[in-house]
Amino acid sequence: MTNYIFKDKTERNITIGKLVCLARSYKKHAQEMNSEIPKEPVIFLKPASSVIFNRGTIKIPKMSKSIHHEVELGVVIGKKCKNISKKNAMEYVLGYLVALDITARDIQTDMKKKGWPWTIAKSFDTFAPISEVILKEYVKNPQNLDISLKINGEERQNSNTSFMIFTIEEIIEYISNIMTLEQGDLILTGTPEGVSEIKKGDILEAKLGDICSLKVNVD
Ligand code: MG
Repeated sequence: MTNYIFKDKTERNITIGKLVCLARSYKKHAQEMNSEIPKEPVIFLKPASSVIFNRGTIKIPKMSKSIHHEVELGVVIGKKCKNISKKNAMEYVLGYLVALDITARDIQTDMKKKGWPWTIAKSFDTFAPISEVILKEYVKNPQNLDISLKINGEERQNSNTSFMIFTIEEIIEYISNIMTLEQGDLILTGTPEGVSEIKKGDILEAKLGDICSLKVNVD
């Protein structure tokens, strides 16, 4: 079991739970993937065992020849909830972080073609680098944060959380009406456009507004 690291250096001890991830949650990313723009959130799960932290190393698995980065806003759940309506959803949020939803794109494409779940493509160890958590009290408007990713100093993704198709409140409402959300669960809210391949030796730097940053390398 792995605990979150908090930016305010408090002694909170919260174990990372399930990772509930959104796909196609920014219009331009759905378009670049030739995917339909969904009418409700498209979700999948990623295991907590895939998490690594700042200064960690993404390990390229032997099974894949094409690994992609996806920079995403992460929402950490602070208390257990079920069947939450969007007007109360923010009560259950503990804080935010910036994450990378690393994806074996070749495996995912193959699974999509077969109509099979794309779990493998998302679940390798080290495929969920996350930053420290910043408590929600310090974030004025999580729905208006610049989100960006540089590789070896070159900008690859640059958007703003205001372009998300569904709001954080709508996402919590949707997920909590399917499964109980518990303290320590992490919602990865999906990536904006600009996803591309990463290679051994790359240095990835992700940023969420001026509140969170994350730097990892690839091996
Ligand atoms: Mg993603």
